[in-house]
Amino acid sequence: MNRYWSRVAQQLTPYVPGEQPQIDGLVKLNTNENPYPPSPRALEAIRQATNETLRRYPDPDANVFKAAVARFHGVQADQVFVGNSSDEVLAHVFIGLLKHDLPLLFPDVTYSFYPVYCGLYGIDYRTVPLADDLSLRVQDYGQPNGGIIFPNPNAPTGRLLPLEDIEALLKANPDSVVVVDEAYVDFGGTSAVPLVAAHPNLLVVQTLSKARSLAGLRVGYAIGQPHLVEGLERVKSSFNSYPLDRLALAGATAAMEDTAYFDRTRQAVIASRVRLTARLEELGFEVLPSAANFVFARHPGHDGAALLQALRDRKVLVRHFKQPRIDQYLRITVGTDAECDALLGALRDIPPTR
Ligand SMILES: *Cc1c(COP(=O)(O)O)cnc(C)c1O
Repeated sequence: MNRYWSRVAQQLTPYVPGEQPQIDGLVKLNTNENPYPPSPRALEAIRQATNETLRRYPDPDANVFKAAVARFHGVQADQVFVGNSSDEVLAHVFIGLLKHDLPLLFPDVTYSFYPVYCGLYGIDYRTVPLADDLSLRVQDYGQPNGGIIFPNPNAPTGRLLPLEDIEALLKANPDSVVVVDEAYVDFGGTSAVPLVAAHPNLLVVQTLSKARSLAGLRVGYAIGQPHLVEGLERVKSSFNSYPLDRLALAGATAAMEDTAYFDRTRQAVIASRVRLTARLEELGFEVLPSAANFVFARHPGHDGAALLQALRDRKVLVRHFKQPRIDQYLRITVGTDAECDALLGALRDIPPTR
């Protein structure tokens, strides 16, 4: 606490991202980064954009990038909202579309940034427990609400909700915006974007951080009907006129256009996930079915927190959440096969503690 802080700053509970330690030889499987480099075309576009035009402001409307996103998804450019990371897009969504008199609903086990935005913006929310197998049951969302948000696949479980369930949720909640956070959808899910045309209350959020290997560039977007996009543009233009810089716009546009590279790298990650899951199960782990670039796994012979530390001692970094219901699980990012093998080698070396 500090006497110069506003009441808002004093009452915040900030989000804590996974660590980015500088340790030689570290196998880093803790923040769901892509093990493959960004598209060479994206890197070249960033290099090309690194020139004297940086003295000029970028396009405040990001029209070229919006057009690339619209082309990729087969939607109109006025159905696309873009921002400096999907976390920023989500922040605008929370204040612009999800703050209402009735509480916002999201799962009890989900992306831990959601309650942080609620704290920042004074949004009333209620968590809805996942089923015992950590799956999301749409029937449980049949209560008065001012909005609904969840990742699909969910984080940190990796579990996928079928599109039929999302459609049922949209129909049951015509007066609320339903936000589907598709940060991981390209690793095995089906996007809800095709439902946007028929559903005025659907907003789909995506990022270039995971499947497009550009976590360092900070680019995300949302797709919804123009009236939702307009609400978000009002918030954006009350916050930052130029959230995406010239280099980000150039790299992100090229990344959206390089569909061949995108498909090749995400298929490689999917293949490594299948292989990693099988080997973890051979070691006695229970692995939730994942449609993401991570797996959520626990072992009857290991305590979650202790296993995290034992792996850390062997220079393998994974993520553990000290949270009811999931504190025996580890969230393990799918790396290259070589990185997964390093993890598996370390696990074989750690004796069970119970
Ligand atoms: C990684 C992640 C994001 C944030 O992505 P950025 O675009 O890097 O901010 C959003 N939602 C979920 C569920 C994520 O896992």
